[in-house]
Amino acid sequence: MDLDTQTIDGACHCKTVRFRVRLTDGLHTARRCTCSYCRMRGAIAVSADLEGVDILAGSEALSTYTFNTRAAKHFFCSRCGIYTHHQRRSKPNQFGVNVACLEGVSPFDFDDVIVYDGANHPEDAYSSPPRVAGHLKFVRA
Ligand SMILES: [Zn+2]
Repeated sequence: MDLDTQTIDGACHCKTVRFRVRLTDGLHTARRCTCSYCRMRGAIAVSADLEGVDILAGSEALSTYTFNTRAAKHFFCSRCGIYTHHQRRSKPNQFGVNVACLEGVSPFDFDDVIVYDGANHPEDAYSSPPRVAGHLKFVRA
């Protein structure tokens, strides 16, 4: 895994949905979130600008889930159920992209992932970055 990867291909589990993403800062933006949805979903996301995600195939299979303010749009494959990306509530000009969908990247390649305190959302304040709730560390046996 190359943390400085800028452009990388991705797909859902059944490979119906395929996409190419240009990341804002490689895999350095990897994060998790404590909000009610993310804590169930359990995915690690990296950042891309909205124009940085090109759906190459399967756009008709993409479903959207919204809740609460409905500001964030969570995309997932309607066939295999895998979350591919989401439009952020805190930064609507950005997508979070599921690292587990990216070619050659595993969530378990990351030693330490920042966890943002999405459960206590800073009311979409652009100026203040989300608070860090903690870190998830993967300790190899
Ligand atoms: Zn799928």
